[in-house]
Amino acid sequence: MSKHLSKYLHRTMDKQAGIEHAFHRTKIVATVGPACDTYDKLLELVKAGVNVFRLNFSHGSHEDKLKIIEHIRNINSTEPYNIAILGDLQGPKLRVGEIEHNALPVVPGDVLTFTNEKLVGTKERIYVSYPNLHEDVKVGNIIMIDDGKIEVKVISIERNNDVKVEVIMGGVISSKKGINLPDTKISLPALTDKDLEDLEFIIEQKLDWVALSFVRSVKDIVILRSKLDEKKSKTKIIAKIEKPEALTNIRDIIVESDAIMVARGDLGVELPVERIPLIQKQLVRKCIHRAKPVIVATQMMESMIDRSKPNRSEITDVANAVLEGADAVMLSGETATGAHPALVVETMRKIIMEVESTEYRFNREEDLKPQAHSPSFLSDAICYNACKIARDVNAEALVGMTQSGYTAFILSSYRPKSTLHIFSKERTLINQLSLSWGVRAFYYDEEESLDDIIEDQIEILKERGFLKQGDTVVSTGSTPVHLHLPTNVLKITKVD
Ligand code: PGA
Ligand code: MN
Repeated sequence: MSKHLSKYLHRTMDKQAGIEHAFHRTKIVATVGPACDTYDKLLELVKAGVNVFRLNFSHGSHEDKLKIIEHIRNINSTEPYNIAILGDLQGPKLRVGEIEHNALPVVPGDVLTFTNEKLVGTKERIYVSYPNLHEDVKVGNIIMIDDGKIEVKVISIERNNDVKVEVIMGGVISSKKGINLPDTKISLPALTDKDLEDLEFIIEQKLDWVALSFVRSVKDIVILRSKLDEKKSKTKIIAKIEKPEALTNIRDIIVESDAIMVARGDLGVELPVERIPLIQKQLVRKCIHRAKPVIVATQMMESMIDRSKPNRSEITDVANAVLEGADAVMLSGETATGAHPALVVETMRKIIMEVESTEYRFNREEDLKPQAHSPSFLSDAICYNACKIARDVNAEALVGMTQSGYTAFILSSYRPKSTLHIFSKERTLINQLSLSWGVRAFYYDEEESLDDIIEDQIEILKERGFLKQGDTVVSTGSTPVHLHLPTNVLKITKVD
């Protein structure tokens, strides 16, 4: 036991805080908005089961976000939680401008004109926030307005660069509604001027994760990565998959990103909706194979925005995401602007825990076998077998140590049966790992001997109520300790 152990035993507030030790392994991401942006509301959501809060940079000011960030950090420092904060960049999202009286009803056959001239939209002309619209679209292209509720087709491109369209599916156009161009290659940069300002804020505030919307190719991720590296930022990247282009080079995007979001909202506008279920399944599987966390997002509990019970189909949707093995499921309007933010989170957590309490485990060990050609083959093999042994000996806990996060992501990717505890001296990782399936992370930075480290970790877990006498623990680590090598040791301990 190290002489510093006592330093880690003070934050033993789990019991006072009423923390459930049988926690949900599939994590919950909740979007913050006016319905939950006070300290008390945020804490209520955390107690109901939130692991990650999403700040959507499509809405609200930096000033408002600062307050929310402060509240979340206060929760982390006074309560025994490590809630991660995710900043979600709008990316090249197109919108219409202001609309006269905030309502423009259109019916099939109507002809409308889109322009890049800033004006209040009427039946005559409508401003679109996309200067190159006339260059990028072709006659016959479809344009979707308001999540695809309204559909128009390009009929001509005028000499003054206006774009004339005919309404195919009618509805009411209101101010600032989003526009999708499913069959047009958009020439906007991956990071708009607004995104660059928001990114600067995200870096300054040291948010744990940054998500990029409308990723089209791996280059978008490389650009974002270089901006983060320039500032020596430790913020990790989530690529939002919501464009058909992203699917064509998905392998590279997954490799280059730190995590993936299946952004079903825009994906369902850009692609035929019936393709979403299988795309979701494939993305989840591919991410698990590469040990990258994957979030299933949008409309999971949509009906609870104004009702107190979810639809049966929504319950099944959440359960299916859990069964597929997603790391996290996400709430958007349900928590940001809905009537029952805490109730939605609680309901979602109950669905997750019900599925997880059964013996559903997807037996994918065969196809997740460590690959000899991988540069991390040997440490992968230790982690893979640690999960297997932990199951064989019915271990109460599986313990990993990491500085880069890799061991945590890889252990989590095997979706082990034993509960997974990760120790790290990288403070930023402690919160970041809140997104990863099954991971509970702890700060620990002693590095005298591996024997002491393993003993300390077991002591900490005992103290916090995760382990008791007689339990079996499978620990992984690396020696010589001071060299910080990839995981190369596996030890089984009987707790005394
Ligand atoms: P958004 O992304 O909520 O930022 O649009 C998620 C989605 O499109 O599903
Ligand atoms: Mn989106």
